[in-house]
Amino acid sequence: MPRVKVYTTDFCSYCDVAKRILESKKIEYEEINIHGDSEMRDHIEELTGRRDVPQIFIDDQHIGDDDNLTELARSGELDKLLKEEDNDVAKNGNTIEERNVIIIGGGTAGYAAGVYTSRAMLEPLLLVGDALGGQLSLTLDLENYPGYFGHQAGEFVNGLKEQAERFGTETRFEYATEVDFNSHPFSVKTYDNQYSAKTIVICTGASPRTLDIPGEKEYGGRGVSYCATCDGFFFQDQRLIVVGGGDAALEEGIFLTKYASEVIIVHRRDQLRASQIMQERAFKNDKIKFIWDTVVDEIQGEEQKVTGTLLRNIKTDEKEMFPIDGVFIFVGHIPNTELFKRVIDLNDQGYILVDEKQQTNIEGVFAAGDVHDHVFRQAITAAGAGAAAGIMAEKFVAELENRAYPG
Ligand code: NDP
Repeated sequence: MPRVKVYTTDFCSYCDVAKRILESKKIEYEEINIHGDSEMRDHIEELTGRRDVPQIFIDDQHIGDDDNLTELARSGELDKLLKEEDNDVAKNGNTIEERNVIIIGGGTAGYAAGVYTSRAMLEPLLLVGDALGGQLSLTLDLENYPGYFGHQAGEFVNGLKEQAERFGTETRFEYATEVDFNSHPFSVKTYDNQYSAKTIVICTGASPRTLDIPGEKEYGGRGVSYCATCDGFFFQDQRLIVVGGGDAALEEGIFLTKYASEVIIVHRRDQLRASQIMQERAFKNDKIKFIWDTVVDEIQGEEQKVTGTLLRNIKTDEKEMFPIDGVFIFVGHIPNTELFKRVIDLNDQGYILVDEKQQTNIEGVFAAGDVHDHVFRQAITAAGAGAAAGIMAEKFVAELENRAYPG
């Protein structure tokens, strides 16, 4: 059995992604939480040259972060590395597992659909895919969910899962890699299994948008980050730039002041998009400064570490080389619909098109949450849409089986 080590910090959703991939393959691993342990943090940085978590080792071979692990799992290389002769693929061969409902995505919308379809006794299968909890797994506090305030988002995510599972939703930490909605029952493949389903609810959410500028990829994990709660700890007493002007940029910027000596929010306009309450908190924070009307054109570094950014004022076109230790990017999201391109109808920006009953252009395939909603993008609206999609999925199956359905 290979020895697998996963270095993590507190509140790290990307660490959860890595752990779930290993768990889905029934691989035992040792988790080493380095939060607050500066000696360990420096050791990891020295060992890997990286300033982010998770960092994964298999038999002392450095694998990289969750993206590297995902890529290995996708290509089948992970099984070879883990020398898994007796894994699920071998066990299941080409067997197709038949289900009533498959929910793709384990965020708020997915679990809301899970609650409704499991209470309808449909024993839904929920494929978590990326991070359990979706966008909420990247947030610290949940303040605007009616009836549930002042709690940590992590607690809420655990509650989502527990509630849906209590009624019979089955969670599997598997990524959907292929779908076929042309014939019924619909088909879904993951790395490990093949499924057929009478109805599908797509809740794959959205992922952080990148800036696509020189240096961003090169210094990813070496000073460029998309998760303050995961990686902030690596930047004790350092100066950081946060890019963006929305709620995420301000919330994460405020969080980073726990560690950083200074947080400079670089926004492309002179007006923030963030909510009033968040703006007030940021303006009151002594460690936060703003640079307005400015974009980052390039991220530069030395010896595999970010050292500066090239800033450009978009009104004056003035450029400035700005020394900095890290760049945290929060410039919105793009919907996770790659899997559904040319399968179901999407709008120009890649969001799934649904009608007022959450149905896509394919009868029996529903969508809910950030994967179709580019307007509200709130946990509460995702929950509402997930519940509606769950109800419609239940109705679809009832009609298919000629059963009466109330309403
Ligand atoms: P938003 O879309 O709200 O904001 C994205 C920000 O990034 C905008 O200020 C935008 O500028 C800027 N931006 C976009 N593209 C670029 C680019 N290429 N270069 C530079 N800047 C760019 O996304 P968020 O992730 O902040 O929030 C998403 C949703 O989640 C929102 O509905 C938000 O309210 C919610 N949320 C709520 C939280 C809370 O209540 N605690 C916490 C986090 C998120 P511009 O303004 O000019 O368009």
